[in-house]
Amino acid sequence: MTKHQNAQTNLIHAPRKAPQYIETIQPPLYRASTIIFKSTSHLFDRHWTDPYDYSYGTHGTPTTFTLGDNIAQIEGGLFSLLAPSGLSAINLVNSTLLNSGDEVWVADNIYGPNLEHLNNLQTRYGIQVKVYNPIDIDSFTPSEKAKLIWLEAAGSVSLEFPDLKKLVKKAKQFNLLTALDNTWGAGLAFNAFDFSDEHLSVDVTVHALTKYPSGGGDILMGSVVTRDQHLHHKLYRMHATQGISVSGDDTAQIQRSLAHMSLRYEQQSQSTLRLLDWLKQQPQFIQVLHPSLSDSAGHQFWKEVCTTGKSAGLASVIFDSRYDMHAVRRFCDNLKLFKLGFSWGGPVSLVMLYDLKQMRALENTHLQQGLLVRFCIGLEDPADLIQDIQNALKQLE
Ligand SMILES: *Cc1c(COP(=O)(O)O)cnc(C)c1O
Repeated sequence: MTKHQNAQTNLIHAPRKAPQYIETIQPPLYRASTIIFKSTSHLFDRHWTDPYDYSYGTHGTPTTFTLGDNIAQIEGGLFSLLAPSGLSAINLVNSTLLNSGDEVWVADNIYGPNLEHLNNLQTRYGIQVKVYNPIDIDSFTPSEKAKLIWLEAAGSVSLEFPDLKKLVKKAKQFNLLTALDNTWGAGLAFNAFDFSDEHLSVDVTVHALTKYPSGGGDILMGSVVTRDQHLHHKLYRMHATQGISVSGDDTAQIQRSLAHMSLRYEQQSQSTLRLLDWLKQQPQFIQVLHPSLSDSAGHQFWKEVCTTGKSAGLASVIFDSRYDMHAVRRFCDNLKLFKLGFSWGGPVSLVMLYDLKQMRALENTHLQQGLLVRFCIGLEDPADLIQDIQNALKQLE
């Protein structure tokens, strides 16, 4: 190492590389805004479409490329981009694929903030937002202006499972791109890029890594995955020009949690089934919603696509309409283990209260009238969770 006159200069230019190679369980963590080019030829001979092109922090580091590759692999895709939240990943897809005058189709049970974003695009850029009923394919009637359809399987509040096969086939027939919010399946319940005997595939998935991949209820991130390089490059350009980037530290935390993601998913899937058996027997609930239940909307499509029998740890109940908002709020407030909060996929069970009447554009004849409570099953013992709900129900009488 060259010795400089000045101690400060020596410190700044001290070696940054460990003297020898070691192998560790987790990959090394890179934090970068500046990435140092070896020479001007490395600077000028590179192209942003080169695989693993390192040019600037926002465009990727070994840390972000590694997590992106892992997520793509879990979901059955080939290319991926990371965004600072699931919603940011959704916005990336919308802003890349939709132009002024286009028509976009969303399910009535779409993730709420996606709809809000699209309504904003409608007002500002003349993009037509059309709503279909997730369990009625005939309500999806694209015009020649239609560009994109959003799919969610299952819907994350009322848990309808759509007929993915028919929707994707119809979308392809009308030349729409298909984007699936894959947060519920997480790449573990089904393969969005090959989900039928006919090898049907969506074009792009987004995944709120905030949920299962993080698994901690503490880190926000999102991904956009495709198998189509041309589409990936379009998304990548938009990603770069919008300055979308994620922190190396957050990325490394999620990378660390991937090792046990499928174990957590499996555990929460099983615990939820335990709860369902009990929830169905409680007279306070007029309807229990979960795609594994034979009377849940789209149950047969869930069975067809989720051949492993797995589900995310979400279950919803509709309270008999004799329980008004005041009573259902009291129920939520009286739960001890279930905490009141948004999100899911973490260690702590959560509860959230919804009034669907205010959230839906179409009539939902498959849902009973009444207030909806969604349970997100964490990693606690299901018997304790049942006890908690039982106690809160008792206090209602
Ligand atoms: C949580 C969630 C998102 C958004 O993810 P954030 O990281 O919270 O922005 C998108 N879609 C679904 C289905 C979600 O549950």
